Amino acid sequence: MSDHYVQPTLYIDGQWLMGAGRQVEPVVNPATAQVLAELPHATQADLDSALAAAARAFPAWRATAPLERSRVLRQAASLLRERADDIARQTTLEQGKPVREAKLELLASADTFDWYAEEGRRLYGRIVPGRHPGHRVSVLHEPVGVVAAFAPWNFPALTPARKMAGALASGCTLILKPSEETPNTALALARALHDAGLPAGVLNLVFGDPSQVSQYLIASPVVAKVSLTGSTAVGKLVAQQAARGIKRTTLELGGHAPVIVCADADVDKAADLLVASKYRNAGQICIAPTRFYVHESKYAAFVEAFVQRVVRLKVGNGLEESSTMGPLANPRRVAAMDRLVPDAVQRGARLLAGGQRIKGAGFFWQPTVLTEVPEDALLMNEEPFGPLALINPVASLDEAIVRANRLPFGLAAYAFTQDSGARMALSRGLETGMLGINTMTISMPEAPFGGVKESGLGSECGIEGLTAYCNLRLVSEE
Ligand code: NAD
Repeated sequence: MSDHYVQPTLYIDGQWLMGAGRQVEPVVNPATAQVLAELPHATQADLDSALAAAARAFPAWRATAPLERSRVLRQAASLLRERADDIARQTTLEQGKPVREAKLELLASADTFDWYAEEGRRLYGRIVPGRHPGHRVSVLHEPVGVVAAFAPWNFPALTPARKMAGALASGCTLILKPSEETPNTALALARALHDAGLPAGVLNLVFGDPSQVSQYLIASPVVAKVSLTGSTAVGKLVAQQAARGIKRTTLELGGHAPVIVCADADVDKAADLLVASKYRNAGQICIAPTRFYVHESKYAAFVEAFVQRVVRLKVGNGLEESSTMGPLANPRRVAAMDRLVPDAVQRGARLLAGGQRIKGAGFFWQPTVLTEVPEDALLMNEEPFGPLALINPVASLDEAIVRANRLPFGLAAYAFTQDSGARMALSRGLETGMLGINTMTISMPEAPFGGVKESGLGSECGIEGLTAYCNLRLVSEE
């Protein structure tokens, strides 16, 4: 295994492109703040080539038997598993997360390829009974065409993998712009597909100024569908651009997940699961548990159990096996923590753990616990996207549900209770796309992943992550 950072490239029409006078931007290791490599930006001519290649490749890929599309995805999945240790180290170098987490993410990406390899073979239409003898009505799934997709840096393998797998399995071709901060992880997925025999032009990876690239691609008449994982602010921009051409849109945006710990909850089990989940990826996860509403009868015990586990976390370079939390992925997150934590404390929150930047070259922040956080604190309203747990007492389940629903976000929510009445009230009452009760496992290839309210539009994963790349066509025939 090597910790040499591979030179990132563009990937257009089956070619790996770099240099040649293109503008570049540095890729930075968040654990050391050192430059790893210079990433080439796509020129306008490169974007035009990617559009032309994706359009050219579409008719043949659409006509390719689902069995063959399935073979490519499955072979790519096994190549990813073979290469998992090396790719995970590239992820840790560019993104910071502990290498163990990076490998699990990569393996989940391989599982996503495998699942869509199978599900693409089951993209059934349906026959509707005709109105009279000899009349037949069929409903067909047709791939939408060329997709423009945008993926973020927090899950640099899984977010591109969902877009690649759904689009390719359905017969679409794709131009993907991964995050400029984490190019090599997405490129490794593209490399696996390329080596598995994906035809040139079916998948293209470009990098550049996100706003310029997305505007250019989305405005192109070649592009029929847009898929973005990112912040709600960027989602609104992209949705507006897509709306101009009535383009199909899937948006996975920000969250601010509430966690409701009921009076009957097993506090130790809840604390075990919640600490592991809160500080995974240094809290930079759209479904990370964030606002904890704990029944007052369990409040003191829960806070104690939670803090006990937090102080045992070991923050360090993700390449070191002993690190259980890596750095934040970029200096913007450090600046956000620097703004959000003092604001909460100033407004009366109690700081029980962490709360400071860790000195040194990298972008490290202490795992932080704040309690009695007033609802007007900035971090109770904007997605913190960092290692901050915000714990407050509540007097009743009803109060917890009202407080959980008060934000415009509705991505994930969690609850801990054995009570069947409480489960029913939670399943019905929480405004959320996904709800975990006594579990944090809500993300898997076979089940839809998506948000309501300003957390997004549509779903990825599950059959929904495939039909999202299809138009329905009705054929009525005599
Ligand atoms: P950001 O809003 O600038 O960027 C988010 C992602 O969108 C990045 O990958 C970026 O390259 C891309 N992007 C930015 N402008 C774009 C545009 N005009 N068109 C297409 N893509 C564009 O924020 P950031 O500083 O990178 O991340 C901070 C915030 O983003 C977090 O607070 C969090 O809310 C959100 N975020 C959410 C997710 C998620 O999984 N839903 C992932 C990453 C970031």
